[in-house]
Amino acid sequence: MSTLAANFYLRWRARNAPGPALQENHDTPPPERLLQAIWQQQRLLRDQLQTLDGQPVRILHPGFKNHEAGPDFRSAMVQVGAETPRCGDVEIDLRSSGWRAHGHDKNPAFRNVVLHVIWDGKESATEGMPTLTLKGRLDTPLRELDAWLGRDSFQSLPDALQGKCCAPLRELPVERLRELLHQAAHVRWQIKGSQFQARAKQVGWEQSLWEGLFRALGYKHNVWPMQSLAELRPQWCRTPAAPLGLQARLLGVSGLLPDQLTRTQSSTDNYLRRVWDEWWRERDGLSACILPRELWRFNGLRPANHPQRRLALAAHWLAAGNLIPKLEKWFLADIPDRRLADSLGEALQVEKDEYWSWHWTFRSARLARPQPLLGSARVTDLAVNVILPWFWVRAGEGGNEALQQVAERRYFNWPSAEDNSVLRLARRRLLGGAKPGILPGAAAQQGLLQIVRDFCNHSNALCEQCEFPELVRNWAGG
Ligand code: SF4
Repeated sequence: MSTLAANFYLRWRARNAPGPALQENHDTPPPERLLQAIWQQQRLLRDQLQTLDGQPVRILHPGFKNHEAGPDFRSAMVQVGAETPRCGDVEIDLRSSGWRAHGHDKNPAFRNVVLHVIWDGKESATEGMPTLTLKGRLDTPLRELDAWLGRDSFQSLPDALQGKCCAPLRELPVERLRELLHQAAHVRWQIKGSQFQARAKQVGWEQSLWEGLFRALGYKHNVWPMQSLAELRPQWCRTPAAPLGLQARLLGVSGLLPDQLTRTQSSTDNYLRRVWDEWWRERDGLSACILPRELWRFNGLRPANHPQRRLALAAHWLAAGNLIPKLEKWFLADIPDRRLADSLGEALQVEKDEYWSWHWTFRSARLARPQPLLGSARVTDLAVNVILPWFWVRAGEGGNEALQQVAERRYFNWPSAEDNSVLRLARRRLLGGAKPGILPGAAAQQGLLQIVRDFCNHSNALCEQCEFPELVRNWAGG
């Protein structure tokens, strides 16, 4: 794969970059849109956040981007000092004066704001409003975050029309289309790598990997509670335990352990009794870390993706205590491409769980046949989003180019991930509804997602002012 300098997609992306590279200590504040992207991705020193009056702030969930009028993020959950976590909205402004200047103080849509996030300042806009400054609290220098996230925007992908890039993309020979998608995928890969690198500087490589694994186990619904749980690992994983003991801690700390028996399903009630026997002993010592149950989202969640079952899997990994050496062994082994996904699946698989191999959730009936705690779709997700970028960036820090190439080769040869609604929509807009087979391999899918992020999310349904079609045409003719 090409180097950074040879990556033409990176140059396309930079061409549209908003303004010159930014400096954190510069007098001019960064654009609000960049601050919103930083907030959404939580590229912050999350364990060093404080309000203006010195109260520690924990971001249990950054909230969901609001595409309508009103605060920038809805349904966030934050904890200020030792207070009970607050659920509400987050507004992001450059300075606290923006609160009044934009009329938020008189606008009822802002009544539910629980945290005002500003770039810099010394005073809150309103007495009693917790205010957090971001300056000096970023996990990576501002100019780098600008390069990686500066294009993220709040506009959602339009879904009715075929995009204007559809025609020039259709004219590309298949190999050229693949080359383009792979260049975009390479940019995505570097963004993920930079995130691991920044986090590893704060908490070490091992912890940064656990956080990545937990985030991926959260799937798209529960990424942030999983991240919060992983950040608390040094507290709930201080002493070793068997899988059941770690399941008790994880279910207890996550707030997902039911406090009532079902009274109808004996297998579930037996398991719950055993978990509670363990959790009683640990609960007081861990009470400061317990997350509110409201942090978790269950709507539209497939039973197999339920966080309780995902935590049961994580408990097995942690109890065995050898996941990272197993992954290292897998990474260093000579594995043919056709065996990549299966071999990683074998490294990640755990022994049968007495309860969770037979149940999707606490409410579901016992299954006729045991089901693995990790399916093949999740293995690919873990590989391309967590495990390979982590190995790649760690090898880069150690100056080991050969291992970096192993990671890159595996990423670009990894089989396709399961199709999903985001990919379907992207294929409709950019590739005229082409069949999934037009994107052979997970990297091509990742590249398509990156183009959506870099170009579609900055345009509208008519593709107005989108430079991508022209860039493709020029490149194809060049
Ligand atoms: S916005 Fe740009 S990249 Fe997206 S579909 Fe339209 S032309 Fe293509």
